[in-house]
Amino acid sequence: MSESFDVIVIGAGPGGYVCAIRAAQLGLKVACVEKRATLGGTCLNIGCIPSKALLQSSEEFDHARHALADHGVLVDSVTLDLARMQARKGEVVGANTKGVEFLFRKNKVTWLKGTGRITAPGTVEVDGTAHAAKHIVIATGSESVPLPGVAVDEKRIVTSTGALELDAVPGHLVVIGGGYIGLELGSVWRRLGAEVTVVEFLDRITPTMDGEVARNFQRILQKQGIRFRLGTKVTRAVTGDDGVTLTLEPAAGGTAETLKSDIVLLAIGRRPYVEELGLDAVGVALDERGRVKTDAHYATNVSGIYAIGDAIAGPMLAHKAEEEGVAVAELLAGKPGHVNYGAIPGVVYTWPEVASVGETEEALKQAGVAYNVGKFPFTANGRARAMGEIEGFVKLLADKATDRLLGAHIIGPDAGTLIAELVTAMEFGASAEDVARTCHAHPSLNEAVKEAALAVEGRALHI
Ligand SMILES: Cc1cc2nc3c(=O)[nH]c(=O)nc-3n(C[C@H](O)[C@H](O)[C@H](O)COP(=O)(O)OP(=O)(O)OC[C@H]3O[C@@H](n4cnc5c(N)ncnc54)[C@H](O)[C@@H]3O)c2cc1C
Repeated sequence: MSESFDVIVIGAGPGGYVCAIRAAQLGLKVACVEKRATLGGTCLNIGCIPSKALLQSSEEFDHARHALADHGVLVDSVTLDLARMQARKGEVVGANTKGVEFLFRKNKVTWLKGTGRITAPGTVEVDGTAHAAKHIVIATGSESVPLPGVAVDEKRIVTSTGALELDAVPGHLVVIGGGYIGLELGSVWRRLGAEVTVVEFLDRITPTMDGEVARNFQRILQKQGIRFRLGTKVTRAVTGDDGVTLTLEPAAGGTAETLKSDIVLLAIGRRPYVEELGLDAVGVALDERGRVKTDAHYATNVSGIYAIGDAIAGPMLAHKAEEEGVAVAELLAGKPGHVNYGAIPGVVYTWPEVASVGETEEALKQAGVAYNVGKFPFTANGRARAMGEIEGFVKLLADKATDRLLGAHIIGPDAGTLIAELVTAMEFGASAEDVARTCHAHPSLNEAVKEAALAVEGRALHI
C-alpha cells in the first residue's frame, strides 16, 4: 500500500476537482486520480471551455462581417485565420487546466496520475500501485453516445472532440442530433462559413427546453442559415474520397434518401463513463442507463464508495457536477451537504443564448399545476436596442395561487448571465412580485427580467 488518504476522488473534471478542493478545505487528506495529461476533465479539455472559446471567436468574426457596419464601424475586409483561432482556443484551455493544477497545489490535493481502479472498498489502484482511502468518490464523467452504422473516426465523422479540432471550415457539416452540443458547434462552423444541416430524430430540437422557446430558437437559427431535418433518422454513414454519404429515413419509417457532407458531427447525447473502474468486481450497482446508482447523499450501495457528476443521474452539466462535488465533500466532513435540483440553470451558448431554470410550461401542464405567464421581448428593452440585439424574450412562469416562481426561460442576448438573477430568486423561494419590485439598473438587459415579472400580473410598463 503506497499512501493512505481520507478521500480519493477518481476523475478530475468539474465534479472531481471541485470535490477534492472542498474536501481539502475542510481539513481532509485528499488525492485525485486523473488519467488525462491535464486536469479539468471533459469540461476544461474537450467540452465547455474550448467550445466557448470557439463560440466567442466565431461570434467576433460573424460580428465583424455582418454587424459592425450597422454601428458605423467599417472594416475593409474580414478574413479568417483559423489556425490562430484554434491556437487561441488551446491557450484558453491551457490557462484553465494549469489553473486547476495551481489550485491542487494550493490546497495540498495530491494528483495521482494514471487510471484508477477500485480493487476493494477502501482501495484504489492507480496504474498498479494501491492507495488506501476511507472514502472513494467516483467522478469519471461521460463519453459521447455512439450510433450504429455511423463509425466515428474523429476526422470525417467526428464527435464534439473532433468538431473542436477541425483545421479547415467544412463545405457542408451535417450535425446528427439537435441538442445543445450539436447546435453550439453547428453555430461555430456556420458562422465561419460552413453550410450546416441538423438532422434530428424527434420533431423538435432541444427536447427538454420549454416548447415555445425551442420553436423560437429554431426559427432564429434558421435565419442564421442552419437547416433542420426534424423527425428524421440517420441509419448509415459511408465515408468516401469526397466526403460522407448519409442515409436518412423518416423517424417513423419510410423511404430512405441520401445526404452528402464533408464532415459529420455525431452529437446524439452522452452516457456515463465507468469502464475502467472495476465496478463489477466490487459490486457497485448501475441503473438501467448505466449510471452509478446513488442515494440522496451520493452513496452507492457499497459502503465508503460515492459517485457524482455525469456518472450519476441528473442533467449532464459542469455546474451540477460541481455542486455535487461540494455537497459530497461536505457530507464526508460531517456537514450537511445538499443540492437543490429544482434550481439548476441550463444554458445554450449560441447567439442569442438560451437559458432556463425550473419548470417548462409543458411540465407544469402535465403536472396539473395552475400558473401565470409573464413575457417581455427584447425589442422593447432599451439596452438591447442600443446593442443591436433585439431577438428573443424573457418568459417567467409563476404559481397561479401563490405567485411563487416556478420556471424562467430566456432567449436573447447574454441569457446565460441574465438567468442567474432568477436562479437566486428561486433559491430564495421568491415570487414574481419580489422580482418585479426589485430595482434594476437602467439601461440594462436585466430590465427585461423585471418587466417579465411585472407582466405576470399584467402590468409591464414598457410594452
Ligand atoms: C462539447 C461539450 C460542451 C459542453 N459545454 C458545457 C457547458 O457549456 N456547460 C456545462 O455545464 N456543461 C457543458 N458540457 C458538459 C460538461 O463538460 C460535463 O457535464 C462535465 O464535464 C461533467 O463533469 P464530471 O466531473 O462529472 O466529468 P468529466 O468532466 O467528464 O471528467 C471526468 C474525468 O475523469 C477521468 N477519468 C475517467 N475514468 C478514469 C479512471 N478510471 N481513472 C482516472 N481518471 C479517469 C477522465 O479522464 C475525465 O478527465 C459540455 C460537454 C461537451 C462534450
